[in-house]
Amino acid sequence: MRDAYGMLKPQRMLKPDEGTAGAGAEKLRGGQTQEAGAQGGNAVTEPAERETRSEAAATKADEPSFDRVIAPGATVGVLGGGQLGRMMALAGSAMGYRFVSLDPTQDAPCGQVSPQIVAAYDDIKAARELAQRADVITYEFENVDAGVAALLEEESYVPQGSALLYTTQHRLREKAAIEAAGVPVAPYRKVASLADLKAAAAELGLPAVLKTVTGGYDGKGQAVLRSEDGLEDAFRRLAPERAGAADGGGAVSGAAAGEARSSEDAPLVLEKFVPFRCEISVIAARSPRGEVKSFPPAENIHVNNILHLSIVPARIAEDIQRRAQELAEKLVAGLNAVGLLAVEMFVTEDGELFVNELAPRPHNSGHYTMDACATSQFEQHVRAVCNLPLGETELLTPVVMVNVLGQHLEGAAARFCGDDKEANQLGVIPKLHIYGKTESKTGRKMGHINLLCKDTAAALAWVEHTNLWRN
Ligand code: AMP
Repeated sequence: MRDAYGMLKPQRMLKPDEGTAGAGAEKLRGGQTQEAGAQGGNAVTEPAERETRSEAAATKADEPSFDRVIAPGATVGVLGGGQLGRMMALAGSAMGYRFVSLDPTQDAPCGQVSPQIVAAYDDIKAARELAQRADVITYEFENVDAGVAALLEEESYVPQGSALLYTTQHRLREKAAIEAAGVPVAPYRKVASLADLKAAAAELGLPAVLKTVTGGYDGKGQAVLRSEDGLEDAFRRLAPERAGAADGGGAVSGAAAGEARSSEDAPLVLEKFVPFRCEISVIAARSPRGEVKSFPPAENIHVNNILHLSIVPARIAEDIQRRAQELAEKLVAGLNAVGLLAVEMFVTEDGELFVNELAPRPHNSGHYTMDACATSQFEQHVRAVCNLPLGETELLTPVVMVNVLGQHLEGAAARFCGDDKEANQLGVIPKLHIYGKTESKTGRKMGHINLLCKDTAAALAWVEHTNLWRN
């Protein structure tokens, strides 16, 4: 599932802000910065001089990225200041890195633990400011504005590059890249007109899933088609701008028909419906030096199209788990990715694997690693972009991650303030993570709990007994 968090963000970037980080306050040049730990409205406007990049990093500026190591003490710039940036900053700070993030929301989750530039994502001046203040740049969402991405690559060090962002921003480009890496996806056809849709449905058969190629998340921007009767309505709903051309039996006018031949121009994709046994994801990592490692697959259960549970080990045969990791590793290597790549897959009854989609960043389904693996996905991401040796990904204990949405927050927090008898009885150790978002809303990801356990059935029983996740 395309992560709502990433997709909901405005598709642009930055602006200068300055930051003074809590105890180890660092003076930063340029605009205003929010002080770490401060609760909103604490922008520091006075420009201050400082070495904008650590000397160690600056002297290595011309080295090829294969050899270039960003050592602890350097500053990591993060595009986006949400929970993924926050958890990255927390993990990376423990390793001795400094962080500065860029996010338009005052007092964003990452800004509470490290300096934040408060500016729009497409603010070129702010992007430049981030580039000046950081030794290395990463991002926590995939809809990075192309102009900003280009500027950052030119004016800073972005080991992840922007090619993979470009690929994963568009379902058709993404599918083509996955196939080119020799990894299977569900059969699909691009759809630029109602006529295309009818032909695709005839070829692939129904049911099938119609999706917008950009901008969909949490099940939005898609429709399951079960009969031919539903094709036209679905087309009109998902591609209203093309619906006019669809009138008259789906004929498309000359120019539009010509454009429709280009997959860049097709607004929709029709996928064969995969009757999956379960959905899993594997988080793989690759460093500039080419080292690749992956975490054990998580079995993911969605409710209302939002991730609800990640169960690890996934309840599938070990050889399927191994194959899933191999596929993810093949992809991260084949795509020449740097940093994390989250690979979502369908597992069929007969153990076949189809990749559904990719996210080139830490992923909600990898949060279980924070308490259950030798290395967390966030530490691994920092290691990867800084070109350190990757950490071991071994699972230390079975675990179930349960998301805490707005409607669960109060109950979950209250539970943590008292004795948790169920947890004791079931032999479950709940580890609560709250993201510090100032506004709690139904369906909004506010935190998660990693339930460490001897057996994932016990953790699932805990989720059931608490009654918190009934809505
Ligand atoms: P997505 O936005 O592509 O992640 O799709 C959201 C959810 O829809 C997935 O997590 C699946 O549960 C379901 N889904 C998407 N594509 C397919 C497919 N081709 N076959 C069956 N289910 C699908």
